[in-house]
Amino acid sequence: MSTSSSTVAVVGAGIAGLSAAIRLAVAGKKVIVFEQNLYTGGKVTAFEENGFRFDMGPSLFTLPYLVDELFELAGRNPREHFNYHTHDEVCRYLWDDGTKLTMYPSLDKNEAAVASVFGATEAEKLRDYFEQARVKYDLTAPFFLEKSLHRASTFLTPAVVKVLKEIPKLGLFSTLHEENEKVFNAPKLVQLFNRYATYNGSSPYQTPGIMQMITHLEHSLGTHFPVGGMHEISQSLTRLAQELGVRFELGTRVEEFIIAQNSITGLVAGGKKWAVDQLVCNTDVKHAYKYLMPEKVKRPKKTLQQEPSSSALIFYWGLSAQFPQLDLHNIMFSENYETEFKHIQSDGPFWEDPTVYIHISNRLEPNDAPKGKDSWFVMVNTPYDQGQDWDMIVPMVREKVIERISRVLGTCIEPLIEMEQVLRPQDIEQRTSSVGGALYGTSSNDRMAAFLRHSNKSNSIKGLYFCGGSAHPGGGVPLCLLSGKIASEWLIEDE
Ligand SMILES: Cc1cc2nc3c(=O)[nH]c(=O)nc-3n(C[C@H](O)[C@H](O)[C@H](O)COP(=O)(O)OP(=O)(O)OC[C@H]3O[C@@H](n4cnc5c(N)ncnc54)[C@H](O)[C@@H]3O)c2cc1C
Repeated sequence: MSTSSSTVAVVGAGIAGLSAAIRLAVAGKKVIVFEQNLYTGGKVTAFEENGFRFDMGPSLFTLPYLVDELFELAGRNPREHFNYHTHDEVCRYLWDDGTKLTMYPSLDKNEAAVASVFGATEAEKLRDYFEQARVKYDLTAPFFLEKSLHRASTFLTPAVVKVLKEIPKLGLFSTLHEENEKVFNAPKLVQLFNRYATYNGSSPYQTPGIMQMITHLEHSLGTHFPVGGMHEISQSLTRLAQELGVRFELGTRVEEFIIAQNSITGLVAGGKKWAVDQLVCNTDVKHAYKYLMPEKVKRPKKTLQQEPSSSALIFYWGLSAQFPQLDLHNIMFSENYETEFKHIQSDGPFWEDPTVYIHISNRLEPNDAPKGKDSWFVMVNTPYDQGQDWDMIVPMVREKVIERISRVLGTCIEPLIEMEQVLRPQDIEQRTSSVGGALYGTSSNDRMAAFLRHSNKSNSIKGLYFCGGSAHPGGGVPLCLLSGKIASEWLIEDE
């Protein structure tokens, strides 16, 4: 039987693995994190070239309290180890026809901005829209995001009965697009709020209306950006884990989980056998079942049939000029959003009319680019990798992206690109083992997706737990931090 000083292996030093490792170390466990890369953070990593610094993965940071909570749990003042800017703009939206709209984490400012572009009638709808988003978030987050969906105890509370009564308000039976169309008449506003489906790699034409809750995070709870960039999230958590005694085995790929009598007893990593009492798996669950689990382990069929979320193509461009008309986050929308998503979903020619996201970290972190220059993270959503010919696709996407940006800014930007790196879906898979290079694990393209996502605990193997984007509650930095929390708390309770 395990004791309080039992050894727990965490497989993968992604953001969820770090969250689980810290919580387990605080609870007195001996924790070893096995990471195939020579760095921690998984998708939350960064690089520098020619004086430009880029966060390679996430750029949108919500719910910073979830990072703070880990420092507080370890008895530290988070502000001495991790800090963040609170920004006064959510995003700048730009369309080919010259329409521009800036959104803010302030209802008053949003009403004024929307009134000036789309008229007072549209602006008056914002208050109700954000209130609906708040209700959806407040009703569901404590149960469906912060707790396991696979434990009876989550459902056996009087508060859940209240949620069940409110089901008609949650938008479970309509799509996000349908919910947005019910509220707004201006197609560009519908498009703007449809965009929130991409925060979990889904299509607004398929993901349920409950995803409206995501707008509440940025518009009402604030828009933030870590001091030092997104990479500081994974780096500060790695430092905290090390201070707590967590051992990191970097450059050590886990090859197999060792299971005896339906219990985890160890793993094979770096060509060696390691005895462990429990294992928290932070790799993509499809990858884990395919490559790491012995044949005899029962596969959760429906879960493994879930479609991966969308992926992305990212151009990291060091620009020889600055564009003050762009802020930290900018979106240049496609002309036909529905067709764009149909193409992303069906592996069609998504590059013909791509929505372009530009993130410029040096707006808040001036050292991220040389003086007078800009460090651009330029991303388009793509299907997950299914063996497409990316060598052919990347130049076509690049051309369309440059055309759109140049049209919107009224300047040909191509000659200004002085350095470039590209990240493709298969690069994301190769670096993190996320199947198809999915950004967010599995997609949320149907209302049952949340229930079919993998549980945070194996129901057939004792001592095996799961966290990360492909486990409950899903992808994105905040949810991954929560999945590490749910998995580690379950492990501790089981003892
Ligand atoms: C380009 C991009 C943009 C994104 N934008 C945002 C955003 O703006 N906001 C947001 O919140 N989220 C965003 N995301 C999603 C977010 O980054 C992820 O959901 C989250 O970081 C995933 O964390 P994770 O814990 O699931 O692990 P991952 O980051 O997937 O890491 C898993 C780790 O496990 C390791 N591993 C896998 N297999 C093995 C093995 N066999 N042995 C040892 N180690 C192994 C991998 O090397 C990796 O380090 C974005 C992602 C990408 C790629």
